[in-house]
Amino acid sequence: MAYVFQDPGDCLDPGFTIGNQIREALPTSERRGAAKRLTELLRTVGFDDPERVQASYPHQLSGGMQQRAMLAMALAGRPRVLVADEPTTALDVTVQATILRLLARLQRQENLAVLLITHNLGVVAELADEVQVMYAGRIVESGPVEILRQPTHPYMQGLLKALPRLSGGPVRLEGIEGSVPPLGRHPTGCRFHPRCHLARAVCAAQVPPWTDVDNGHRVACWAYGDGGWA
Ligand code: SF4
Repeated sequence: MAYVFQDPGDCLDPGFTIGNQIREALPTSERRGAAKRLTELLRTVGFDDPERVQASYPHQLSGGMQQRAMLAMALAGRPRVLVADEPTTALDVTVQATILRLLARLQRQENLAVLLITHNLGVVAELADEVQVMYAGRIVESGPVEILRQPTHPYMQGLLKALPRLSGGPVRLEGIEGSVPPLGRHPTGCRFHPRCHLARAVCAAQVPPWTDVDNGHRVACWAYGDGGWA
């Protein structure tokens, strides 16, 4: 498994060249005479001039180039699973699109399973096949990416209502009342109950069970399923 962190500028070591840092991530048996493998990795993530990038220090690269160097480092160990944690947050919008296309290409080309962690629902809609919606450390809704069109959990519904849309007339955006609980002080029962407009007494008392909605779409909410009220 390999992990790509959200801010490459903070994760790369400013005192070593990119080539040195990628070499460190190679399996020990491949580190001697690694020049060919480094070139191959940097070409895989879209660099046309891998020799120059290898010799560069992180501050000599743009944010998008740094993120591609991080991806090369992640691929160095030939992972089967790549965890990408908000890989585009620190980048501007046009560079974000480049990195997302690159991730999609790497997924196909390297036959990778990619676990993408993000708050950006546009990125989810574009890249994901399966979605797990997490609130306060617990998964509350899951299924194929199509669940974005018909979200069932009140938290997911609230997230989508808060998104601006380019089509249609002006609409007032709705927020979700309250804020996320601090780490270690999770509410009892359903962790979303202090902010949920559908909450009833059972929600604060017991963790909701999973209910099948359809075709692999599942939700953990007392308001759905037998005896529900939604
Ligand atoms: S279990 Fe209750 S509080 Fe939690 S999301 Fe469903 S209705 Fe709201």
